Amino acid sequence: FAEICASDKKSFALCIIDIKRFRKVNESLSRMAGNTLLKQFAERLCKAAGDSIYTARIGGDIFALVVPAVSDVMRLALMLESRLKQIIEEPFDLDGTLLKVSTKVGVAMYPADGADGETLIRNAETALKKAKSSVEDYLFYSHDMTIRISESFALERKLRQALDNEEFVLYYQPKVDVETRSVVGIECLVRWLSPDYGLVPPKEFIPLLEETGLILELGAWVLRRAMEDQRKWCEAGIIAPPVAVNVSPMQLRQRAFAGLVEQAIRENAGKARIDLEITESLVMEDIENNIENLTAMRALGIEIAVDDFGTGYSSLAYLARLPVQALKIDRAFVSDMHCDPNAMMLVSTMISLAHSLRLKVIAEGVESEEQAKMLRLLRCEEMQGYLVSEPLPFDDMTILLRKQLEQSGDPVN
Ligand code: C2E
Ligand code: CA
Ligand code: CA
Repeated sequence: FAEICASDKKSFALCIIDIKRFRKVNESLSRMAGNTLLKQFAERLCKAAGDSIYTARIGGDIFALVVPAVSDVMRLALMLESRLKQIIEEPFDLDGTLLKVSTKVGVAMYPADGADGETLIRNAETALKKAKSSVEDYLFYSHDMTIRISESFALERKLRQALDNEEFVLYYQPKVDVETRSVVGIECLVRWLSPDYGLVPPKEFIPLLEETGLILELGAWVLRRAMEDQRKWCEAGIIAPPVAVNVSPMQLRQRAFAGLVEQAIRENAGKARIDLEITESLVMEDIENNIENLTAMRALGIEIAVDDFGTGYSSLAYLARLPVQALKIDRAFVSDMHCDPNAMMLVSTMISLAHSLRLKVIAEGVESEEQAKMLRLLRCEEMQGYLVSEPLPFDDMTILLRKQLEQSGDPVN
């Protein structure tokens, strides 16, 4: 424990877990049953904790978790909540007697609630004691944190409602050909139109949705809506280019994902074409699994782009093996290109690399003509950014597509 304190410069959390009414089990069933419960609980706890969380049994029916590198207590709380649910959801089988149990948890944070093991344990125990006599399933030692977390839970509840009430909207941003400036693709970007907060950008709610697993529900909605909107364009006589949908790694890991996409395609009678964008660092994380799922997507005729390219650590060997068709160069490089020779060189290198792998390049966040010119000289195929258009609501995107249709005299394609 002292070792973790010394080695982990970052904050970490000590969570002490108590099985409620454990003594009752011992008394009313048997000590054997009590032992079986402890054993099964410990097994489920270790499984739920995974590799990155330390687990221990520190007393009769008391377990401890040390969660390293906690940067955000809110996420910690969500994580705790979902893992504990996973542990106690199913009843325990005590030699034929099925028993549901519940837990109480006390949490202390290093270093805020104690700089050594002893203080931390004492404070986590204090928090546990308070939790036991309250309605809360867990409490933080610091009162402020408990308040912050209950506020965030209010947010989580609101997000659940938002999904039920369909409070999300899709905005569309065109991708254009660097040479001709015609629209060759559209990226769809989700926003939350909240009755309480107004239009909320995705960065503020997607991490929370990912943490709670709700992202799967939102992701499925985004897919469906993007295809429906595209079909509407099609029915209005505008042949819109494919719509690129951002997918979260959690969605991609889902076994049913390919089926979901296939079904959405079928429902739109093949009238909608979507592409996918997947963040670089996340594709690389679970590469073998992802290759399999991405290959299934390819088989459906879907183009896949590696998003935020340059921010992760792609291994070239893997990049060559991935069934992807495009790289999107992260905005950070594009925006520094005209003032920072290093950024310029990086963009140039990324483009050559992509081309040598026969991949198309899309530059994100293009805001000036100067940047567009450099990209043209570097033979970048497509660009996207405020220079061309901000992300637009459906109706405005419809107008933009129509305008292009009139100018070219041809359907947009
Ligand atoms: P991203 O995929 O990298 O999306 C590009 C972001 O850059 C968008 O922010 C867009 O509004 C912004 N942007 C576009 N052009 C410019 C420009 O010229 N200058 C600047 N400064 N910014 C520009 P947004 O819409 O807030 O989205 C943020 C991130 O949220 C996205 O990053 C994406 O990772 C995620 N996201 C958005 N929609 C979804 C979704 O439906 N599902 C999932 N899983 N993630 C989504
Ligand atoms: Ca994207
Ligand atoms: Ca991006």
